[in-house]
Amino acid sequence: MSNSVATSEHTETSEREVHIRTCPLCEAMCGLQIHVENEEVKLIRPDRDDVWSKGYICPKGTTLGHIYHDPDRLREPMIRERDVWREATWEEAFARCKELIDGVLERHGKSAFTYYVGNPTVHNFSLGRYIGLFQALAGLDVCYSAGTIDQWPKNVSCRLMYGNSWVIPAPDLPRTSYFLVMGANPHASQGSLLACPDVLGEMDKVRERGGKCVVVDPVRTGTCNHADEWVPIVPGTDAAFLLAMAHTIFEEDLVDLGDVSEIVSGLEDLRKVAEDFSPEWVSETCDIPAETIRRIAREVVAAPCAIVYGRIGLCNQEFGTLASWLIDVLNIITGNFDRPGGLMFGTPIAPAMATLNFEPPSEQEFGRWHSRVRGAPEVLGQVPVSCLSEEIGTPGDGQIKGLITIAGNPVISSPEPEALDEALPQLECMISIDNWLNETTRHAHVILPGLSPLEQPHYDEMIWSWAVRSAGNYSPAIFPPSDDHPQEWEILTRLGAYLAGMDEETFDLATIDDGFLSGLCAYFQMDPEHVLSHYESGGPERMADFMIRVGPWGDRYGENPEGLTLQHFKDNPHGIDMGPMLPRVRDILHTPSGMIEIAPEYILGDLPRLKARVERSRSTSSTASTNGSASGTAEGLVLVSRRHVRSNNSWMHNVKVLVKGKDRCTLLIHPDDAKRTGVTDGSLAQVSSEAGTVEVPVEVTEGIKAGVVSLPHGWGHNKSGARLSIASEHAGINNNILAPGTFVDAISGNAAVNGIPVEVAPVG
Ligand code: SF4
Repeated sequence: MSNSVATSEHTETSEREVHIRTCPLCEAMCGLQIHVENEEVKLIRPDRDDVWSKGYICPKGTTLGHIYHDPDRLREPMIRERDVWREATWEEAFARCKELIDGVLERHGKSAFTYYVGNPTVHNFSLGRYIGLFQALAGLDVCYSAGTIDQWPKNVSCRLMYGNSWVIPAPDLPRTSYFLVMGANPHASQGSLLACPDVLGEMDKVRERGGKCVVVDPVRTGTCNHADEWVPIVPGTDAAFLLAMAHTIFEEDLVDLGDVSEIVSGLEDLRKVAEDFSPEWVSETCDIPAETIRRIAREVVAAPCAIVYGRIGLCNQEFGTLASWLIDVLNIITGNFDRPGGLMFGTPIAPAMATLNFEPPSEQEFGRWHSRVRGAPEVLGQVPVSCLSEEIGTPGDGQIKGLITIAGNPVISSPEPEALDEALPQLECMISIDNWLNETTRHAHVILPGLSPLEQPHYDEMIWSWAVRSAGNYSPAIFPPSDDHPQEWEILTRLGAYLAGMDEETFDLATIDDGFLSGLCAYFQMDPEHVLSHYESGGPERMADFMIRVGPWGDRYGENPEGLTLQHFKDNPHGIDMGPMLPRVRDILHTPSGMIEIAPEYILGDLPRLKARVERSRSTSSTASTNGSASGTAEGLVLVSRRHVRSNNSWMHNVKVLVKGKDRCTLLIHPDDAKRTGVTDGSLAQVSSEAGTVEVPVEVTEGIKAGVVSLPHGWGHNKSGARLSIASEHAGINNNILAPGTFVDAISGNAAVNGIPVEVAPVG
């Protein structure tokens, strides 16, 4: 069918239209064929001609039609009066937003306002490109995001090592010969901070060409089926494992910085700190034989090229920043940094805004302010999302009275979700940009629905920054939204303007948008007048065109007549591919020294905490046999979270085809631990932590390390007032109920939802 595609948008075969489109759900960015008949999505298949994904998709990608047709999806703005929701016109809804925002500003000032940004923002054509404008307009000092649940450690380490928190290196997986995976499960979620279609297929190819894949994880995930070796590890000890690898490499004189040897600063400091972490010393803590750690270190060194890759499981743990930093360190000291087949920086055809360096290089300050209640230090402008509930619920100067949520559901996704659920009704103004009346937005005063993915164009922005190839793909909207339905960027900009004190008379969307683009013109040394003269209208499509044109292959508005524009992508619906990753670290470094800072002081300052952790486990390991623990987790059972290929955080559980079948919200437990705790397969277990208790069905499996139990995240759709008819029938339990809000990676503030001490007992 794809061969019949004749235009950039679709072809018509009798009554059926086949639209070529990029899946916007995750970092794999798969090409899809979407078959539409009589305004209804009939079928979604892979686009085998897509230059990037070449026919790969996962089950989620086939459900974009379900999302579009979901009767629960909000099409009109909603206003809540007491407990009653009613549909409203956009005019009415914006007027109510203005009234609510003004009320909080007048009564409490701007410090009483904050906002929360959810993960889908980065995948959205509009929101991703305009969140920065919203932030600039709103001028709010404090914000919260899903970032402090899943990736802040990586942002911190990249800020300190390379000078920009959003310039993040990614594995050049298609060209490597050794792939060490830690805390990541591509089987469930493809790449993360790694854009690569079919990561598992690429792992298979590594092995087919004689290479090796090793997975270090407390759970024997589906990814292990594509690896040569599964190395079970005690949750939260990855940093110790990685330091012991570094120790081995220094001790055996195997350090090789390769092409970056002249731009690495701090190697001697690194050598000194690694000295203390011998494999023998951390072995009990990680519950991995010292010889295994040494062997893996030697294998990475000996491979023609290798990648050490770590992701979310390394971020949302007690030592997240140390672990995230050490991932990059290992690649650097083994000569696998900024080289093909190693860890490299992507070169997007259209640069992402967050990766631009608007300020000169500077030392990063941390703790520039502290949260009011807990005193949590600010890190890259944020504090842990678990602070939000106490900042709303605790009276006093600076108490949060107004909140805007943007494509997020923190009542499901944050630690101690019940506290947030209780706090949100205390707000005087809560506005949500969201497509569903979910567990969080049910507390809003106004919900402003965005568009379904199929109702808007798409060209990923941020994701190409960590892609294994410099490619790009544009998709036009398939279904036009209703005439008066604003795109998300308009909604965001309007709310930002209200927070800036503008009203309907002073608010001019086009002027603000032109000003936004003009600012970017200055950055790229382009004449704004000349640039603006090319467009009749603004918005994200213009922004995408601009970024392509000023990007590395762009036409620079005539300076490079052969260069790319967005029109080239419209003319090539299967995408354009400019080739594999290129060495470019020298172009992107933005540290004050101009060097890669391999041993940032701020991160090294956290090592005593890790040492104390190792000492603690060594001193308690001798009691392991007497306290009944069957494993190396001498302190008892610990909980880790997990993902599933049919799930996407919390927001796709209202898709019937994804949630049907066997209950996936189960507690994975090793047979030894099941026996010891008295729970059996299929029975109900009570799981308790210092934060809370849940009851959940048990799944006994050899596929998890003894001493570790696992729950999936994103569930718990049992809140009254939410309108998620399918999800509520498959509610599951919210694993975050067990996550103490104060259990964080100390130097990034990222939630530690992996490695939570828990007790398990049979129900009844
Ligand atoms: S892996 Fe699945 S969810 Fe991700 S882009 Fe591809 S089809 Fe979409």
